[in-house]
Amino acid sequence: MLRTDLLHPVISGNKWYKLRYYLEAAVRDRVSLIGTRGGAWSNHIVATAAACKLQGIPCAGIIRGEEPASWSATLLEARNYGMELYFQSRTDFSNGLIPEGLQQRDHYLIPEGGYGEPGVHGAATMLDPVQLKDYTHIMCAAGTGTMMAGLIRRALPLQQVIGVPVLKITAGMEAQIQPYINASASFRMAYGFHFGGYAKRTDELIRFMNQFHAQTGIPTDFVYTGKLCYAFHSMLTRGEFQPGSNVLLIHSGGLQGNASLPAGTLNY
Ligand SMILES: *Cc1c(COP(=O)(O)O)cnc(C)c1O
Repeated sequence: MLRTDLLHPVISGNKWYKLRYYLEAAVRDRVSLIGTRGGAWSNHIVATAAACKLQGIPCAGIIRGEEPASWSATLLEARNYGMELYFQSRTDFSNGLIPEGLQQRDHYLIPEGGYGEPGVHGAATMLDPVQLKDYTHIMCAAGTGTMMAGLIRRALPLQQVIGVPVLKITAGMEAQIQPYINASASFRMAYGFHFGGYAKRTDELIRFMNQFHAQTGIPTDFVYTGKLCYAFHSMLTRGEFQPGSNVLLIHSGGLQGNASLPAGTLNY
């Protein structure tokens, strides 16, 4: 397992990699404000807030849904890093509207989840420290597919990249990835492990995560990496990997999202 969760206490995992070239462009162009979009528990929002603080660039977050009576730990943390927050109705959010307070101000908008060429380019560098030839497969969780596209780009010709979609979909995710990769690249999606949809969970998933942690000492999050490890474990049990396979699992971080779970859900 590639433990990118250990990179930094907040900008952990794939978010830092996906942001790096957006931030580089923002610094180069001396932008005065960075904006981005996400939900109330978004790892991308808090990572952008922390990264902008480190770079000394003011930032604004456009948040899906009306302002909640009590803010999530993610939003409080983002505000602590100095991010201005704008709440939007779900309709305005999905239409990509820019809130009034931002319209007048010059800003550089990073797409939700860092989806786009700079995000893919940055995600590919997650594999820089890895001896790639040791592995037959690389497996990761997929939300927007940005990270997966980057991994596919960097993978060696005979390696297969397997993505585990965490959204409630049973097909079609490939189309989000294809624009960013070579047509000959080997990859596939392992559908069927979303546990009810994005940020949904079942007791079975939580039990698995607790057991996985007890056995390996590795904490996973219930939105992404818990589903990834569950998928890997089931595929392994079903004999979907040839003997002699070496699978590299990508721990893409996201542990801050576990703060949304009721106390005592996880034993770590
Ligand atoms: C955002 C995130 C993902 C999904 O990355 P995409 O590039 O959007 O597919 C996976 N794992 C974790 C922990 C994340 O925070």
